[in-house]
Amino acid sequence: MRVGSSWRWQLSRAMRLALRWCRLCRPQRGGRGAGAKPWIRGRVLELWSYSKLLLKSLYFNSLTNSDTLLDCAFEPVYWIVDNVTRWFGVVFVCLVVMLTTSVLVIVYLFVLPTILSTYPLHWVIWHLCCGHWLLVMVVFHYYKATTTSPGHPPKDKMNIPSVSICKKCITPKPPRTHHCSICNMCVLKMDHHCPWVNNCVGHFNHRYFFSFCLYMTLGCIYCSISSRDLFMEAYSAIECEYCPLQRYYQTPPPTEALSETVASKSVIFLWVLTSSVAVALGGLTLWHVILIGRGETSVERHINRKETKRLQEKGKVFRNPYHHGRMNNWKVLFGVEKRSHWFTRVLLPSSHLPNEDGIMWDCTFTRRDPMAI
Ligand SMILES: [Zn+2]
Ligand SMILES: [Zn+2]
Repeated sequence: MRVGSSWRWQLSRAMRLALRWCRLCRPQRGGRGAGAKPWIRGRVLELWSYSKLLLKSLYFNSLTNSDTLLDCAFEPVYWIVDNVTRWFGVVFVCLVVMLTTSVLVIVYLFVLPTILSTYPLHWVIWHLCCGHWLLVMVVFHYYKATTTSPGHPPKDKMNIPSVSICKKCITPKPPRTHHCSICNMCVLKMDHHCPWVNNCVGHFNHRYFFSFCLYMTLGCIYCSISSRDLFMEAYSAIECEYCPLQRYYQTPPPTEALSETVASKSVIFLWVLTSSVAVALGGLTLWHVILIGRGETSVERHINRKETKRLQEKGKVFRNPYHHGRMNNWKVLFGVEKRSHWFTRVLLPSSHLPNEDGIMWDCTFTRRDPMAI
């Protein structure tokens, strides 16, 4: 591979090759006559193969393969997607805040008064405690997931343990670090870039992101179940209102029915929104539960799958060096060091930092079996 080739060198190489191509085009003296046709065919084939060689030599690189070419071809698409995601991140965050606020308003205006007036005391206490606990957990973890930096490799230290050099940042990449093209920087233990939190999910905010997904799903399930009876009533009321036969024979509705219509439509909106989010976000949360149980991030899932296939072809078995056992992986994520931490660090808002620094990793290979692969 030619390293550090400047545009001048590329230009002079292209000119040299073009000159040689012209020389090949020039007819040679003598040798014409009876065998002119085969000669012309031979020359055309020679020129064609030389043109292909010329074209290939212009972009030849020992690291070039089909993946690199595909990446180059899709570079404009990646650029558009990255920029759209970057700029729409703010819109997505506003959308989450607005929808959550609208759900809260509807619950406080229509669902909670119904619970307070119709349910027995112990159910009222349960609803008040459970609903407000979920609300605090959702708001806390969403705020922390959006505002906490995922962590980046230090640029001033050069003696950090690294597995490669980032081609974009030109800095050493510690294990589990990947470059985010949307943030345009390397992220420690990168999981993915989430437009819904307008932030990268990495080492220092992975716990906040997962807890937000979990408590948001639980909150939506709670709202959906709590408002189910109200939704059924509201749905039948709206259905009757829009039924053409009934509307024809019924007397016109009184003016106070307007507030009831607003309430019915709000409850229907609440139920449809929370049920849809519960299903969609529940699926995402379940996927992250599987990944965390395996000690993988979303990026590592793809890398490990490729590596498993590659080693399988060689008759070897791939072992994830960051998998410490299912329960231990959860303890590492939540920072659980003693039994009381399950309550104080998982079930209550906590802003403790992870045990590792995101640069040095406690690897299962270094502890037990240095030749596991
Ligand atoms: Zn980078
Ligand atoms: Zn990012």
